Amino acid sequence: EKQALTAYRDVTPRRADGTVIDIAANIGSLEEIDAAKEAGAMGVGLFRTELLFMRHIHLPSEDLQAETYSSLARAFAPHAVIVRTLDIGGDKPIAGVDFPDEENPFLGWRGIRMCLDRPDIFKPQLRALLRAAVHGNIKVMLPMISDVGEVRATKTLIGECAAELAAAGTAFAHFDLGVMIETPAAVLIAPALAREVAFFSIGTNDLTQYIMAADRLNPTVAKLNDVTHPAVMAAIELTAKAGTDAGIMVGMCGEAAGRPDLIPAFIAMGLTELSMSPSSIQRAKKCVLEGSKAD
Ligand code: PEP
Ligand code: MG
Repeated sequence: EKQALTAYRDVTPRRADGTVIDIAANIGSLEEIDAAKEAGAMGVGLFRTELLFMRHIHLPSEDLQAETYSSLARAFAPHAVIVRTLDIGGDKPIAGVDFPDEENPFLGWRGIRMCLDRPDIFKPQLRALLRAAVHGNIKVMLPMISDVGEVRATKTLIGECAAELAAAGTAFAHFDLGVMIETPAAVLIAPALAREVAFFSIGTNDLTQYIMAADRLNPTVAKLNDVTHPAVMAAIELTAKAGTDAGIMVGMCGEAAGRPDLIPAFIAMGLTELSMSPSSIQRAKKCVLEGSKAD
């Protein structure tokens, strides 16, 4: 079967109506670029920047980040590379940040919440992304969004970063800004978020845990951690509708994006980008093409 799937590596997964579904890779380091390209990834739908921050004893410098994001952009151009800004919390601490002791780190100071409180960490990352955008098709997405104000505050910081780079004579380019939809709040305000951003990416791992109120790491409640639960599927559908009504791209980067049993439903809801572990890419392309023959 593996050999048969390789035949799908370079095909464009086009639907009967002509829509191309981007099948992209989730990666967390430059070492994973080759495997993703080898698998036929049409860009990167989720670059997790946590590893870059966890690998070093110090916070990674703006220059190191700019080099890393630029290499990534060059490797996949003209395809898009969606870089997610730092999504870290008390469950995965990093050097240079004092995380408070929290009873519920998954409901605590993580992702965009931490970044907005720590512009000394967030702004170097945003400046590095503006610099990398010169070298390819960089897009940026914000994790754990639950309020429109978080997006607006980030835009203000991006504006400051761009002004700082311009004043220093450093080359930069603007990037599309998107948000992850992974909290119930984000789903319920999706129409308002869609007016602020260029794309949505649904993070089904966290969205499932928060919709179902079932810790994604707790085996005792694993049965509830089910993306196919009608409540979670309804949340995905609401998000897709809000995004497509507003005319913005809606993608998905949680584990569910690579499931052949669910891909037809996600496409029917209007998703046009699915990002997954490289090992799932060829099967997903096959699934899109076969679904297209069926309709
Ligand atoms: C998600 O929550 O679905 C997601 C893609 O992000 P992470 O698994 O890194 O939290
Ligand atoms: Mg998440």
